Amino acid sequence: MQKKMNRMKLACVAALVSQCLMASSVSFAQVKETGVSKKAPTISAAMQATVDRISADSMRGHLTFLASDLLEGRDTPSRGLDLAAEYIAAQFRAIGLEAVGNDGYFQTADWNVLKKEIRRRPGAPVPPAEAEPTTPTIVRNVIGVLRGSDPVLRDSYVLVTAHYDHVGIKANEVGDKIFNGANDDASGTVSVIELAKVFASMKERPKRSIVFMTFFGEEKGLVGSRYYGKNPIFPIEKTIAGINIEQVGRTDDSEGPQVASLGVTGFDFSDVGAIIKQAGEKTGINVWKHPVNSDKYFGASDNQALADQGIPAHTISVAYAFPDYHRPGDEAHKIDYDNMVKVNRAVAVAVEQIAHSPAIPKWDDKNPKAAKYLEAWKQRNPNK
Ligand SMILES: [Zn+2]
Repeated sequence: MQKKMNRMKLACVAALVSQCLMASSVSFAQVKETGVSKKAPTISAAMQATVDRISADSMRGHLTFLASDLLEGRDTPSRGLDLAAEYIAAQFRAIGLEAVGNDGYFQTADWNVLKKEIRRRPGAPVPPAEAEPTTPTIVRNVIGVLRGSDPVLRDSYVLVTAHYDHVGIKANEVGDKIFNGANDDASGTVSVIELAKVFASMKERPKRSIVFMTFFGEEKGLVGSRYYGKNPIFPIEKTIAGINIEQVGRTDDSEGPQVASLGVTGFDFSDVGAIIKQAGEKTGINVWKHPVNSDKYFGASDNQALADQGIPAHTISVAYAFPDYHRPGDEAHKIDYDNMVKVNRAVAVAVEQIAHSPAIPKWDDKNPKAAKYLEAWKQRNPNK
């Protein structure tokens, strides 16, 4: 019987099997223990068609604008940041995401208020005296949602995030003074846009809702993500995971080239690392734990602000360190868009896996580094 099966039928069987696996109630922990089967893991035909729509040209188009000199390095707050926010919202609108901010696609905050909070942080430098501003300085997280297909699970959420701010212009720089932040983190921002586009195009959406969001103020100390964490638009206890995308455009890692490869921060703090690794196996991406930076950089991006609220949230990156990091030379022409397509295929498969499965990712209760996040999770979910 198997011999008579043509390739098409085999592909269909493979698709069914993978759908079955996704729909099964086997916990991620069990999957991890069972290990990887000898046969190369596959994705469903529908998911393959979805990831095939991730486009290098599309990401190049968005990134070339966001990292252009016109936006003056997207400092928080600045006109360049506002332009970027409006541009991202325009993409979300074109894609058809549902606007769920307090102002359309924007979750707004007053920078003058947030600035005071930053100054009250322990160890913060004492700023020079300033006149009290009389009008608010509005800053924006940009947020849209794709509702899930399951009548019950659609009230739970998976976050796909990146920060769209950077460090602006530095007047005392010799030569080029604009810090374009092409890799940090226009690359993550356009990945969020592209992933929103391909998920919106799916005929049958994942069961859970997917929230696409880009943050202001990461470079000022995770300010936008902390603001969301304290003023969530969707209940934190219903937000089951977060994948934050940072520095996925440059393959010239300071420690050597990183092609078809991505790292996860806090790799084994929760099940999310193993899920992304599995997605990498299905899409030909090496997903790895950097021996030092995986744990060290867990607190270096916006996932930290969400983890502090209990959400299993991690950052994926291609290069943790690269030659133009926080320099004016972090420019669009140095981005490897074909590699970004590969990386985002793995991210898409991981997001779909989490958003479609009845099981939810868990913090690892045996990892002491995850203890405080697990504690925060338990406070949100006292009966579980
Ligand atoms: Zn960054």
